[in-house]
Amino acid sequence: MRSNVSVVLFTADLRVHDHPPLRAALDASPLVVPLFVRDRAVDRAGFAAPNRLAFLADCLHDLDAELRRRGGRLVVRSGDLVEQVCAVAREADAHEVHMAADVSAFAHRREERLRRALEADGRRLHVHETVTTAVTPGTPAPATSDHFAVFTPYFRQWSRQRLRAPLDAPRAVRVPDGVPSGEMPSRPAAAELSAGLPPGGETEGRERLTAWLRSGLGAYAERHDDLAGDATSRLSPHLHFGTLSPVELVHRARGVGGPGAEAFVRQLAWRDFHRQVLAARPSAASADYRTKHDRWRSERTAREDVEAWREGRTGYPIIDAAMRQLLHEGWMHNRGRLLTASFLAKTLYVDWRVGARHFLRHLVDGDLANNQLNWQWMAGTGTDTRPNRVLNPVTQAKRYDPDGTYVRRWVPELSGLDGPAVHEPWKLQGPARAALDYPDPVVELSEGLARFQRARGRD
Ligand code: FAD
Repeated sequence: MRSNVSVVLFTADLRVHDHPPLRAALDASPLVVPLFVRDRAVDRAGFAAPNRLAFLADCLHDLDAELRRRGGRLVVRSGDLVEQVCAVAREADAHEVHMAADVSAFAHRREERLRRALEADGRRLHVHETVTTAVTPGTPAPATSDHFAVFTPYFRQWSRQRLRAPLDAPRAVRVPDGVPSGEMPSRPAAAELSAGLPPGGETEGRERLTAWLRSGLGAYAERHDDLAGDATSRLSPHLHFGTLSPVELVHRARGVGGPGAEAFVRQLAWRDFHRQVLAARPSAASADYRTKHDRWRSERTAREDVEAWREGRTGYPIIDAAMRQLLHEGWMHNRGRLLTASFLAKTLYVDWRVGARHFLRHLVDGDLANNQLNWQWMAGTGTDTRPNRVLNPVTQAKRYDPDGTYVRRWVPELSGLDGPAVHEPWKLQGPARAALDYPDPVVELSEGLARFQRARGRD
């Protein structure tokens, strides 16, 4: 039914380009209410970390500006999302609400509540796929399960899917009168934020994407693991907040072509992979996906080790560098994430949830599907087909930071050590070691490995 007014509910899709719900609402009605609700339940769940709130505020201001350039505006409300959407739909006399599909248990429950509440009011909810993923979770599905548990076969199927064409941003958006907006969220105080936090917003995201496609993508296959080279896209917060569309990214990267584009598109498929796992197994956000019956050390029993890990003073320079990058930028290189996660879960044998929580507290791209399932992958309770692998921080440091530049950038206490020697400060002798203001390792690697092997009962 064509109605005079539709509502577009923005959630993790804060953009005007390639936005199927916005396009559907504009096709359905001459007047559209673009709405964002600061959902109190998200805050209550502890998901409102200052770094992400700052990025979110940037995104909402930019979205409002983009809508205003087209004659519209963003309506912002806060409170219970279902109540707020129903209230706005009533005020605007809108018959339809359009929104993007999402994958978490929380999102599914919220969507169902919203559908029922709107229907009770005589209105309809339309939920659109391929807004926050490139491919719809569950399609493709394997013959014998509702989701893929291993990435390689998933990727084979994923690569065969025909992606829809990206949509242009609308030229005009007409918003009805009489639908007031609450106050636009502002950034938290600078003291609460990582000093090197990147700015948010679709405009910023699109500029970064264009620069990346022009001058970063080509070398991605060879350079993505180079810790000091910082040669990845840094588009993750834009994908998390949806200021960039994964469908558009895949199309544009494929348009450039070459090994760099192929490797990059594969990473975007990892993102979809984790989303289809979480959609099918929502409990994987907090429970082991494939339990190994670990009896992890907890935050309480391993307090000193956990604190040293969080603060970047474990005595392993590559671990400390990466943990300090997280605190300073609200972001960490993927290789750093792998190493620090392996170190906490396998070498220190601390519950992966302790690490995942700390990451979510600081990461500007902190994302339930990607964070929890990557943590589970590295803890050996997730989708890794080699769940007992342990990454050796010294060997890995020498491979991915061969001359030690990354470590010296983040651990100034070690800046006087040249070349790869920076990765093993404990090898220094006598006065040189005594002069170094840097801790001894919190654990011997062999000791950590033995504890892990004992705990898992095999090598
Ligand atoms: P690029 O290398 O440029 O990759 C492009 C995009 O592909 C990324 O922006 C991301 O959306 C996706 N991607 C890349 N690697 C992965 C991966 N391993 N799994 C899923 N998607 C991937 N990513 C998050 O977005 N949010 C998180 O909270 C998060 N937590 C992580 C925790 C751990 C322990 C680990 C090992 C990885 C985590 N990742 C997370 C995945 C990955 O580290 C980041 O996506 C990546 O480092 C972001 O930098 P980039 O945008 O420069 O990535």
